[in-house]
Amino acid sequence: SDKYKAGLSKTRDSFSSKINNLVARYRSVDEDFFEDLEEILIQADVGVMTVMDLVEELKTEVKRQNIKDSADLKEVISEKLVEIYAGDDDTSENVNIQDDDLSVILFVGVNGVGKTTTIGKMAYQLKQQGKKVVLVAGDTFRAGAIEQLEVWGERVGVDVIKQAAGSDPAAVIYDGVKAAKSRGADVLLCDTAGRLQNKVNLMNELSKVKRVIEREIPGAPHEVLLVLDATTGQNALSQAKTFSASTNVTGIVLTKLDGTAKGGIVLAIRKELKIPVKYVGLGEQMNDLEKFDANAFVYGLFA
Ligand code: GDP
Repeated sequence: SDKYKAGLSKTRDSFSSKINNLVARYRSVDEDFFEDLEEILIQADVGVMTVMDLVEELKTEVKRQNIKDSADLKEVISEKLVEIYAGDDDTSENVNIQDDDLSVILFVGVNGVGKTTTIGKMAYQLKQQGKKVVLVAGDTFRAGAIEQLEVWGERVGVDVIKQAAGSDPAAVIYDGVKAAKSRGADVLLCDTAGRLQNKVNLMNELSKVKRVIEREIPGAPHEVLLVLDATTGQNALSQAKTFSASTNVTGIVLTKLDGTAKGGIVLAIRKELKIPVKYVGLGEQMNDLEKFDANAFVYGLFA
């Protein structure tokens, strides 16, 4: 879509022009060609392991299809990328929203990645779909986080449940679940604090929050979305590893893709962590959140 095209312009400018240069430089597909291709992919933050696998697969395809011309390989590269981005399960990119019951979505991630902004954007989308949405300000630690969520609540026109700064996040979330139930909400979006300094604390805090939700609504939370900042490159990957070791992450929201030339991080996450990317952030505005779409993404990279 046009959103992807615009949002990925930085990655595209660097990535496709490098690929185009490469294709122009090497008429034929040989070892040197693949070495340079590896370098381009690594620079786009695709991740070393993923690049190795991808290049091996491309070499196999080159043999199988007897590809000699480097220009023909471009097509195969996009096909392979779509394959990896899309993963094995077509539906894994959808967020699990119940039809007739309250759905609870927990947002986790370190400070500054765009959690609060993503919650605001998602509230806007869900409201547009006719859902009744409630937000709960579970990030009681970051200065200004509660106020920021309230600003989003006002902007979008949804209720925000909060307590004073420094309160126990699990207690605030408990209030949120109670309020969402009594107000007949369809979806509760929960902000949480992202303190990574101490993994044991993080794990304890997240499991306490999850227990509180589960006790009120069996089967909830329906999604635990890890928010990652694409501009942090390989750091995002290591955050993903820490969080997925601390809690059962069901999906990823990758923010600030518009601000980086390294959109290849999506590929690394998919391939190395096997966690589906469900949404991408392509700007700071209310409607700058897109459902992840592998075809649109790869098209955005090359178009
Ligand atoms: P939190 O600490 O994780 O809650 O992060 P915030 O939601 O406060 O976001 C941190 C900054 O990133 C804010 O200035 C946001 O406007 C900005 N931001 C969030 N998502 C995006 C995005 O997709 N693109 C861009 N360009 N900026 C974003």
